[in-house]
Amino acid sequence: MAELPDKATAFIDWYLAVVDAANLTDKRYGVKGMNVWTPYGFLARRHLDEVMVREIEATGSSPVEFPALIPANEFAKEKEHIKGFDAQVYWVTKGGLSDLDIPLVLRPTSETAMYPIFALWVRSHRDLPLNVYQIVNTFRYETKTTRPFMRVREIHFFEEHTCQVDEAAADRRVRSNLDAFSQMAKALALPYVAVRRPEWDKFPGAAYSIAFDIPVGTGRTLQIGSVHHYRENFSRPYGIQYEDSDGAQRFVHQTTFGLSERLIGAILAVHGDQKGAVFPSAVAPYEVIVIPIPSSGPEPGPEATAVEVAERLRAKGLRTHLDAGDERPGAKYYRWELQGVPVRLEIGRREATSRTATAVDRLGRKAVVSLDRLESEVEQFLGDYDRALFDRALAKFREEFRVVTSLDELKGFSHVAVLTWCGSEECGHAVETAIDGGLLGTPESELPLGLANPDRCISCGKVGDVRWALAGRPL
Ligand code: ZN
Repeated sequence: MAELPDKATAFIDWYLAVVDAANLTDKRYGVKGMNVWTPYGFLARRHLDEVMVREIEATGSSPVEFPALIPANEFAKEKEHIKGFDAQVYWVTKGGLSDLDIPLVLRPTSETAMYPIFALWVRSHRDLPLNVYQIVNTFRYETKTTRPFMRVREIHFFEEHTCQVDEAAADRRVRSNLDAFSQMAKALALPYVAVRRPEWDKFPGAAYSIAFDIPVGTGRTLQIGSVHHYRENFSRPYGIQYEDSDGAQRFVHQTTFGLSERLIGAILAVHGDQKGAVFPSAVAPYEVIVIPIPSSGPEPGPEATAVEVAERLRAKGLRTHLDAGDERPGAKYYRWELQGVPVRLEIGRREATSRTATAVDRLGRKAVVSLDRLESEVEQFLGDYDRALFDRALAKFREEFRVVTSLDELKGFSHVAVLTWCGSEECGHAVETAIDGGLLGTPESELPLGLANPDRCISCGKVGDVRWALAGRPL
């Protein structure tokens, strides 16, 4: 096997090589940006979905599924939204041999599929809040270079859509989504920053947008999710209104929360290393790989012990794979490291005789586990691994930010810039030009940087009423 490109100096080459080597997706399908989920990649996706479902349902959201095709007249009802999306949609214009009376859009996102129906579902204040989510594939005619999980044309997508009684209730839903995402990110061991996007970069049709960004090295950033407050921007054109307790008709305030398969890209980008992919246990296709080291001698030998270990761990609910193939053990270690399995259990003659297994985690830490306490010791070892993985990611995360005090410093900047900003669009664009990237916006939570109050705008020098902002080069 060829060595992987260097992650630090050739990140994209490294990323593409890891995706291939870890066998997560097959890019050879005949449409650019539409990839095949392999069995191994599909399992990672399923476990990611499980994390999202668990956390969103804990906040009182229910699953739904709307059709993939949207009538063009419904799609066109909200002006900003259509302006933001119409260059990115796939159209269905024929049914069989005939032109359709009303062309159909293959959903790029589902506002315009759901909201005509929400207008039928919501009648009274007793129907609110309406909190629903779906996990479906969405489609965008992406013209930039596509990359597996990060920028694709068929996207595995999580979207929550809600209707609330008023603006304050919708603000609370946004907060609840931010909390839910922090739980998801904890499970994925991903440090991130929640950033309020500037006016010119918010979601088409939103009153405000908060996005989750992660640094991926040398000043580049990856948006891994977002939450939007729509106020009445969609409920008015779609007629989603309810009768209040005083008998008045009011429009609902709406929110959305979007995540996607890009989280798998983020996991690879943040945790992966020169040995390949590294999965946190929550999404790992297999949490434990059991590898017998063949030897001749009296029974029970390593093979029988390995079968016993795998069966016991599976019975405990741990996703365990027994690799009893005839490859050399070293080749198996290499391959499962490449595929990012959190914990490997090696069982040779010595282990079989002493009723133990040698545990090695994906960060290279070793322990001997006793088969008497196999299940609890492996669970503890996995828990320690997840904590160490998060600590390693957090240490790197902190290193990626640097405070800057002048626009000159931004030229060729190789970190995510932390700067002070007066909030004006003019100064925001001056920052974007200087860094040759984007003003990501203002952090919603404190950065782990111990910063004092901001002083003066980095661009115009205005003092007072300035805030911290982040700038970087989005991937
Ligand atoms: Zn300014």
